[in-house]
Amino acid sequence: MIDNKLIFDNQKQYFNSQATKSTDFRLRALKALKSAILDKEPQIVDALRKDLNKSEFDTFSTEIGILLEEISYVTKRLQKWARPRKVTTALTHFGTKGLQYPEPYGVVLIVAPWNYPFQLAISPLIGAIAAGNCAVIKPSELTPNTSAVIASLISSIYDEEYVAVVEGAVETSTSLLTLPFDYIFFTGSVGVGKVVMEAAAKHLTPLTLELGGKSPCIVHHDADLRLAAKRIAWGKFLNAGQTCIAPDYIYVQQTVHDTFISYLKEAIHTLYSDNALANEDYVRIVAKRHFERLLDFLQDGDIIEGGRYDATTLKIQPTLLTNITWHDKVMQEEIFGPILPILSYSSLEEVIHTVQSKPHPLALYLFSTDNKAVNKVIHQVEFGGGCINDVIYHIATPYLPFGGKGSSGMGAYHGKASFDTFTHYKSVLKQTNYFDIPFRYPNNKFGLRILKMLFK
Ligand code: NAD
Repeated sequence: MIDNKLIFDNQKQYFNSQATKSTDFRLRALKALKSAILDKEPQIVDALRKDLNKSEFDTFSTEIGILLEEISYVTKRLQKWARPRKVTTALTHFGTKGLQYPEPYGVVLIVAPWNYPFQLAISPLIGAIAAGNCAVIKPSELTPNTSAVIASLISSIYDEEYVAVVEGAVETSTSLLTLPFDYIFFTGSVGVGKVVMEAAAKHLTPLTLELGGKSPCIVHHDADLRLAAKRIAWGKFLNAGQTCIAPDYIYVQQTVHDTFISYLKEAIHTLYSDNALANEDYVRIVAKRHFERLLDFLQDGDIIEGGRYDATTLKIQPTLLTNITWHDKVMQEEIFGPILPILSYSSLEEVIHTVQSKPHPLALYLFSTDNKAVNKVIHQVEFGGGCINDVIYHIATPYLPFGGKGSSGMGAYHGKASFDTFTHYKSVLKQTNYFDIPFRYPNNKFGLRILKMLFK
């Protein structure tokens, strides 16, 4: 039986020893992480094949490669980010120096989901280490092979008092959440995000919530329809639709509806052959419970592509649904599977209005070659982030912070944003002793007059 409290107390003690704070230490830790990922690549690939039937290509491109790139990016810039920053001095503060010291929070908790179970546990860890923290990682129990690989990889390079992995399900999470962590980084569903935030509130622990929701994909009449269909088919059916920023549903302009659908069908066949169920690299649904939840959506509207499934392998064909309304079950919650409802619209205002009336999505995608339409959507609709003329791609660059808004989450990470997320910027003013400006004191004769001149 793992004693979470003991791990936490030991990490607190280790953090207070100052061991994790030098940039040399952080850089060595990141280097060790990169080497361990490279060494254990075959075990990571094998675990993801077992947990989700991910191909080596998918595992490298969406789990391993992205982490290697993130470590390189952070490592190159860390010395600069970690330096105290001098800020401008206000006229009223003549003689002083203002500094911001980037300081680690302390001991942080990272709770990860199952859909990209390796990447989403390790990516926040890179930020936590870069900022100088100790960390406890709780991987998802729904991908047990990957969870075991994470545990063995981390214990092979770090002492538990620095970075620990605590494997387990809800009870484990619940028990960890009773501890007064200095920061919590949670990736998962909206419902559990609320539970985590409530637990964090008990200790006033700051947190990042990387959640989900229904991410719209709008295809305007002037889009490059064939290319749009190809990119959407890739992004939607990648990981069998089990991607937080997968296009959840499509809004296509009526005038191009039929043409777009024919391109979309063509793209699905090109990517997965005529029967994805027989494609040995096609990802399966993570668990029976999720598989059955998805089958329910097949009752909605008309199936115009796919719709077949295999209960023994937990695979569902890439499926397109039309004749869908917002009253259908498939439009009531995040789909998180290879089912894509297609709705149509006549004017862009109509879609903007509909999306505005829903919770803020994590991502939004617009396919259009009209700058006016693009600017209108970017400025009038609220969403975490997204792409114009693409899907998913914005998540894979360390230059763009990634995060949600409203019910799709709070905070952002990747690249510098990860460092900032796990950093407390301590503001310090250094005062001079050479002179003492008299007008701050209430007994100064001209004090009030000078203050009135300065504060305006
Ligand atoms: P989940 O919320 O069920 O679980 C996430 C983690 O929380 C797991 O480690 C789980 O063990 C733990 N957990 C579950 N119930 C808990 C509870 N009651 N109390 C405390 N901890 C609990 O999410 P999931 O099913 O693993 O992942 C799918 C969801 O995550 C989708 O909604 C998806 O959109 C979202 N997601 C978001 C991002 C992002 O970056 N924004 C990335 C991936 C997934």
